[in-house]
Amino acid sequence: AMLIADFLKNKQLQNNVTVNLYTPEPLPLPVAGPALGNSVKEVMVSKGIGFHPLSQLTSVNYEERKIEFASGNSINYDLLVIVPSHKAPAVVLQSGLVDESGWIPVNKDTLETKHNNVFAIGDITSITIPGRWQPDKPMKLPKAGVFAHSQALTVSEIIASKIVGKESKEIFCGDGFCMLEVGEDLAGFAYGDFYGSPHPDVKLKRLGKVWHWGKVLFEKWWLAPIGFRKNILQSLLKIGSSVLKIPVKL
Ligand SMILES: Cc1cc2nc3c(=O)[nH]c(=O)nc-3n(C[C@H](O)[C@H](O)[C@H](O)COP(=O)(O)OP(=O)(O)OC[C@H]3O[C@@H](n4cnc5c(N)ncnc54)[C@H](O)[C@@H]3O)c2cc1C
Repeated sequence: AMLIADFLKNKQLQNNVTVNLYTPEPLPLPVAGPALGNSVKEVMVSKGIGFHPLSQLTSVNYEERKIEFASGNSINYDLLVIVPSHKAPAVVLQSGLVDESGWIPVNKDTLETKHNNVFAIGDITSITIPGRWQPDKPMKLPKAGVFAHSQALTVSEIIASKIVGKESKEIFCGDGFCMLEVGEDLAGFAYGDFYGSPHPDVKLKRLGKVWHWGKVLFEKWWLAPIGFRKNILQSLLKIGSSVLKIPVKL
């Protein structure tokens, strides 16, 4: 929403258009808790974006350009940007590995499924973490590329050790980060221990250009083919994370 608002501002169209964000969540980044969620919300509101929490979408009527919510409310739109409902692909659903949630429960440290030597990583997994809004209501580890990446490193290490008959001590520790692009070449940086107890320990760095350029560099590294260029970009990211004192596993 913030990037769209920024795009419209750059085109000097901001006075002709309204941008609204509807979400079933109580605040942005709910896993990070109310303080962080409120600061992200404030940035959005300062950009003139309408924030509508606890809005569970139930249907989209493309012909009438109308969306409806569980509350019975509906709104009309000119342009709808929507994240479709998230579910595991059929091959996973039919694998016998998923539970009633439709995702694969795994050992949170090793990513091993209920079957020995069968691992699952990334969005298809279901990992329970301590509650944040209500301590007695556990949450799920968010589905994020940064976790999929880190889990891949852990599982490849475990499998490689098994092949040579060694016991691996490698575990996925639940650390994660994300750059939060707000437009105008600025970003925030949220990072922390999502396995933290009594609840995930997530911090937010103040908005700055450094996080935006960090994201640009990260993307260039991610998309670069394996080789010299990728190694150089990785070294730059490692130097940056050490100077800025942020834990980033690449
Ligand atoms: C709008 C949006 C913004 C996001 N922003 C961020 C962000 O800023 N930071 C972040 O960390 N994460 C972000 N994410 C989440 C991130 O994209 C996912 O968590 C990540 O891609 C998960 O990786 P994965 O490998 O588990 O699954 P995927 O990336 O979904 O990969 C699964 C692959 O399997 C393929 N596949 C499916 N079925 C079959 C089959 N039968 N045979 C062969 N292949 C198959 C699919 O085509 C797909 O390519 C964002 C997601 C969205 C939707």
